[in-house]
Amino acid sequence: MDELVSTLSKRFPALKFTAGNQFCWSPETGEIFYKSEANSRQATWSLLHETGHALLEHSGYRADFELIKLEMAAWERARQLAAGLEITIDEGHIQDCLDTYRDWLYKRSICPNCTAKSLQQGDFVHYRCFNCHTVWRVTASRFCRAYRRHAGVPQPGTLSM
Ligand SMILES: [Zn+2]
Ligand SMILES: [Zn+2]
Repeated sequence: MDELVSTLSKRFPALKFTAGNQFCWSPETGEIFYKSEANSRQATWSLLHETGHALLEHSGYRADFELIKLEMAAWERARQLAAGLEITIDEGHIQDCLDTYRDWLYKRSICPNCTAKSLQQGDFVHYRCFNCHTVWRVTASRFCRAYRRHAGVPQPGTLSM
């Protein structure tokens, strides 16, 4: 992992890589967090994916419906990076990650009171139910996610950045 981090920092000196306990891009601090002890293929792909977010300068404040597009764009950028490094990212892994992300976005939009699917408010941190008018808050954390250990698939978490 450290080798890939040093390769990427040489190629993109403007990027800031910080060892942490998960892989994520933090738009607030402009840092790419990575698990330095992780060396699996999935870990490598995650690092490239988060680097993709950073290179595309994805910000944390977007409507949920736009986020899946950003996720896809970050994977596309990761594919380009991987090609230059002679790494192949498994397409099934990318689809699993996107599906997990879609599920997470879907769950956020379900009213906790009456389970109607609802629309996000303009401030991007609240949803309001059109049916029962319940308002609930969702985390503004977009790209920082906890990882499910057994499957190796990123599991969107509810951590605040
Ligand atoms: Zn992402
Ligand atoms: Zn409701």
